[in-house]
Amino acid sequence: MALRNLRFNGDELLRKKSKEVTTIENKIKILLDDMLETMYENDGVGLAAPQVGVLKRVVTIDVDDGNVYRMINPKIISSSGEQTDQEGCLSVPEFRGDVTRPMNVTAVYTDENGKEVTIVAEGLLARCICHEIDHLEGVLFIDRAVNIEKK
Ligand code: ZN
Repeated sequence: MALRNLRFNGDELLRKKSKEVTTIENKIKILLDDMLETMYENDGVGLAAPQVGVLKRVVTIDVDDGNVYRMINPKIISSSGEQTDQEGCLSVPEFRGDVTRPMNVTAVYTDENGKEVTIVAEGLLARCICHEIDHLEGVLFIDRAVNIEKK
């Protein structure tokens, strides 16, 4: 595993749409491992591939619920409810803001072994999935946040 350099707000790459992964080659598995290492090193709970300069639909999440999520081509298929809480982002390190997200999200993704997984998430995990999928569309939390404040 290796640490990758983070991209920060203002970097045009963060505003681009990421491409679907069509085959899970070894380089995707290496990317996932590197993303996890980079995420943990920076005390993040989620990371999307564009944040390390790769425009592929790949996400890692660990919200301390006992699971480490390695998501390829994640997609939200349904959502319900609402939650508003402070959010931050490793690519916008100096700011925080309140973002309203669904309370419950059902998402599908492919895992690193090529298996289709359906995940029913709520609370922080649901928030995190929404935040990371936003990254794959070139959207940052500051586009949605109110009460943005400097940390
Ligand atoms: Zn982020």
